[in-house]
Amino acid sequence: MMKMPGMYSCHDVQELVTCGTVEELGAWDRLRFRMHLMMCHHCARFVRQVRSLGDAVRRLLGAPPDPERVQRLEEAVMAHCDGPDR
Ligand SMILES: [Zn+2]
Repeated sequence: MMKMPGMYSCHDVQELVTCGTVEELGAWDRLRFRMHLMMCHHCARFVRQVRSLGDAVRRLLGAPPDPERVQRLEEAVMAHCDGPDR
């Protein structure tokens, strides 16, 4: 039997999640990843558990601020200070 092209196996999904490489996937791979999660409740639960664990760790360690986000925030604050009624 031919293997369905482009389908992720449970093993693929779990490897991507534990290696943290999901964020680096291209749009198409990300779609395949999501499709697997929609069809496979086991992997969907696994991803939720890993994500919540990751969030807890980040909260504990305190994630370093993303410089791009900080800059956007600064710009937003500056724009607000300049205001329309200057
Ligand atoms: Zn699966």
